Amino acid sequence: MASRRKLPVFGPVYGGEDAGPRPSTRVEVAKALGRGVDPVTVVEHIGAAVDRVQADVLGAANGEPVPACAAGCCHCCHQRVEVTVPEIARLARHLRELPGLAIRVEKTARRTRGLASEAYRREQIPCAFLDSRGLCAVYEQRPLGCRRAHSTDRGACEAAHREPATAPEIPAAPSLSWNTSAVVVGMLEGMKHAGLAPDHYELHHALAIALEHEHELPLSALDPARTRTSTELTAILGQPSAPTRASRHRSTQ
Ligand code: SF4
Repeated sequence: MASRRKLPVFGPVYGGEDAGPRPSTRVEVAKALGRGVDPVTVVEHIGAAVDRVQADVLGAANGEPVPACAAGCCHCCHQRVEVTVPEIARLARHLRELPGLAIRVEKTARRTRGLASEAYRREQIPCAFLDSRGLCAVYEQRPLGCRRAHSTDRGACEAAHREPATAPEIPAAPSLSWNTSAVVVGMLEGMKHAGLAPDHYELHHALAIALEHEHELPLSALDPARTRTSTELTAILGQPSAPTRASRHRSTQ
């Protein structure tokens, strides 16, 4: 979905520039949702776009440090993960076929309910999807935040896991962070233009609620799991971008 051309080498702020894959993703997401495409399908495409952009940036070999991440290294899977509604719906559909995993989600949701991000990190609570080999049981469906997460220093991750109170900052590859952020920010903006709130929710709590609603998930039911509203997101991302071609077109219909 995101453009494979024009990948800037480096951008300073999360979502701070309307460049790279951000504008094209925004337009395509708004257009797709406006046409009635299932938001779960949209988020599947965005996940693939994040993977593709990662491969492109790494393939460009721009001299930056590369991720030290490897299968089985899962220190980062012990902190709070935030997801949007389409990501929740995608995982909930998958979990309906996997009752054992759904039970683990509910148990973790009970344990983590109400924990702020800092307390969650301090407790180093493992994600319900982490298996005994340190692998993600929903790797293909994993949230966008997990897809983007990486570290260029495995030692820093080990220290953060061992001593979360005095953890060093986890270093990341700037171009990788910026470009994958641009895809996700573009998706959030496209959702907003299409009238779908880009609010965020805690993974386990939101999934536990979604699993209680077999056919349709009323958004109000998710309120207790909400961690970030679209207004807060605007404060992080800056002012909303100018309307897309798609939203201008819709507003004249
Ligand atoms: S969903 Fe998968 S990748 Fe994300 S925190 Fe859980 S185990 Fe880790």
